[in-house]
Amino acid sequence: MSWRPLWIELRRSIDAERNLGYTDGAVIGGFSRYAQTMLTSILQKLSEESGPFKARLALWERQMSNYRSLSKAERKKIVEELAEALKEVEIEKPELFQKKEANQQEAQAKASSVQKGPGTAIQFLKGVGPQRALKMKKMGIETIEDLFFHIPFRYIDRSQIVKISQIYGPGEVTVAGVIRAYQEWQPRRGLTVIRGRLDDGTGILSLLWFNRKQMMKQYPPGSAVMVSGKVEYAYGKAELTVQEIELQEEAGLHTGRLIPVYPATEGIHQRYLRKLFEQVFQNYRHILEDIVPREVRQQLDYLPLDKALQALHFPHSLEEAENGRSGLVFDEVFLLQCALHYLRQQKKDTSRGFVHGRGDEELRRFWSLLPFKLTGAQQRVIQEISSDMASPRPMNRLLQGDVGSGKTVVAASAVVKAVSSGYQAAFMAPTEVLAEQHAINWQKLLAPIGIAVAHLSGSSGRRKREEVLQGLLEGSISVVIGTHALIQKDVRFKKLALVIIDEQHRFGVKQRSALWEKGKGADLLVMTATPIPRTLAMTIYGDLDVSVLNERPPGRQSIKTYHLSSKTWPRIYNLIRREVKAGFQAYVLCPSIEESETMDLAAVEERYEILSRDIFPDLKVAIMHGRLKKDEKASVMEAFSQGKIDILVTTTVIEVGIDVPNATVMIIEDAERFGLAQLHQIRGRVGRNSHESYCILVADRLTEEGRLRMKAMEKSNDGFLLAEEDLKLRGPGEMLGTRQSGIPAFKVADLTRDGAIMETAQIASRSYLEKYPQLDNPESKALRKKIAHTFQGLDLL
Ligand code: ADP
Ligand code: MG
Repeated sequence: MSWRPLWIELRRSIDAERNLGYTDGAVIGGFSRYAQTMLTSILQKLSEESGPFKARLALWERQMSNYRSLSKAERKKIVEELAEALKEVEIEKPELFQKKEANQQEAQAKASSVQKGPGTAIQFLKGVGPQRALKMKKMGIETIEDLFFHIPFRYIDRSQIVKISQIYGPGEVTVAGVIRAYQEWQPRRGLTVIRGRLDDGTGILSLLWFNRKQMMKQYPPGSAVMVSGKVEYAYGKAELTVQEIELQEEAGLHTGRLIPVYPATEGIHQRYLRKLFEQVFQNYRHILEDIVPREVRQQLDYLPLDKALQALHFPHSLEEAENGRSGLVFDEVFLLQCALHYLRQQKKDTSRGFVHGRGDEELRRFWSLLPFKLTGAQQRVIQEISSDMASPRPMNRLLQGDVGSGKTVVAASAVVKAVSSGYQAAFMAPTEVLAEQHAINWQKLLAPIGIAVAHLSGSSGRRKREEVLQGLLEGSISVVIGTHALIQKDVRFKKLALVIIDEQHRFGVKQRSALWEKGKGADLLVMTATPIPRTLAMTIYGDLDVSVLNERPPGRQSIKTYHLSSKTWPRIYNLIRREVKAGFQAYVLCPSIEESETMDLAAVEERYEILSRDIFPDLKVAIMHGRLKKDEKASVMEAFSQGKIDILVTTTVIEVGIDVPNATVMIIEDAERFGLAQLHQIRGRVGRNSHESYCILVADRLTEEGRLRMKAMEKSNDGFLLAEEDLKLRGPGEMLGTRQSGIPAFKVADLTRDGAIMETAQIASRSYLEKYPQLDNPESKALRKKIAHTFQGLDLL
């Protein structure tokens, strides 16, 4: 018998002694004597190669002899130290815990694997032929490194070895003993029942197999085995249906430990995967390259890569597996953060930005002419942006502010500063309607201080377009607002030094960087009203500086939100009528899948018909959707914002940014079709003055998740809170369309639960890059290589 099962026994007895409070009672005859005997046998069986460990174990063997005479505290100390020592051996010498392979082929493979790197194809592994390789490829496993990262999603506990005499009820157990005899029985054609008798010295247990005659040859009577399976009672007698069996000598892979359960597929079974992992850990562990530099590692508690993987694939406890997982999460996030930081740095010439040195006086005048006083948050954020702009380092700032928090005037302040300093500024909005609204708004905002604003849209007439293009090129136009029309090739600037992107997540990365390219070194401000949970922001933006508008303009009330069924339309109509009577306006929003030519207008047209003809013939009802002509849209919006329309029946064209403070009612039909972030955005169209506003979510057949969304909306007006909720409900990929960002998805990290580790990783990566901005020190070699390999061609902004 090898020493390995003894080791397992020893660990078990240590656990038991701990549980009994160090009474030396874990084993009949005394724990200390038992442990001593075990250690002696292990020492005898350990081979020479494990020399240093033998010395350490011998020390413990001696310590055990006077265990009985010690106080409880002293005993505790010894037991815990012994447990720790065993664990250390396991971690430091994992090869001891793997099956010995005298096999020559294997030895050769081992020798040749020295030259193999992480990218080596899995076909090199024993037992992986072309067919299996293909199946694994479908699971995303192509290289040995991929395989290492194929991590278990749960564990089955087979670590406790139960004595047969102590089996009292049905359930899963693992027992160790010797097979005494087999019986074979064929109750009917096609079914062979094999019954074996297992003897562990405390009793005899009946083992059961179905149609597995080969068992009898593989484990002939006399074999010492470890068996896991389900115990059931037949005629009052315990019977174990065997799920896993191993020779005791080899035990520890499928039985006798916490057994990992992997994502598997047809033809790639659990047993096969465990076997593979035994092999890769034995022969290929050295190909794992720890990308985290030593000086970062030393300051943190996370397990280094190979130990983390060992802990995940071969854990002794769930806690250990969890520690392994944390280690991988840290590595993964650290890598991404370093990559974002490093690559952006490479791309940008950080020394040559524009210095916006003037504008203080103009800004004071601008603010004094506003119909309101800036909030504290607005003043703070404007200050942050101003000092970025005044420095020669190009600004790279994200402005996050909940809907209605007043981002526009912040952006306008930046524009005033740029123009006063003699530069041009461009403002890009995601939809035509919004760009149009902004253009009108900004003209009003900036006219009093003598700054003209041009508007460039996809549907601008040719002559007007030429005029604007000419003005931008010559520099006679200082401020331009538009949609992606701004990024077309023929749009050229004389000295573009400030780029502002509104509702930035609506643009693809390519579009964003295209605009930025037009003004090399320009200061960049991206704004979003869809608050992004910290963890998610971190992965997408990493090194961006972030400003947060966390204060609403004064006098705003929270929007009363109710989820109602469509049976209650009459009550909803009453609410609309009441508010219109009081001089306010209402939106009725009907979902359309997409703003496209082919979109389904039925819903919005039908609702418009009902409202304008049957319910409110006396009120002014208008319809708005993406298929209206551009000037039709503009005139409807203009009429609505001037209060000439009472009720606007609309699609999601008004979702973002539209600002008509006199509207106090938002009805959202089929609200279940929208995600939380979008619902919050839409709701944000009301509640823009000091009167009470209402949002009614009309939804009938809700999924459980949908119900939670409606509840979250009713409960909270806080965009950040809702965003966290959204992240939990939908996951990061769905949430902001981050898939299109081109940033590879995390393999292990989970944005909804790993926030703390992610923050640690971000801080660590930032300070490391501050120290080694070029990553050109020898310690960063693995990191730099990995970045180049993983993030090749990533389009960053
Ligand atoms: P968002 O952050 O959603 O883009 P806006 O910039 O459109 O918000 O501002 C929302 C509304 O609040 C606008 O009508 C704007 O004029 C008004 N507003 C902005 N700042 C203030 C303030 N400090 N006090 C009062 N009203 C303000
Ligand atoms: Mg806005």
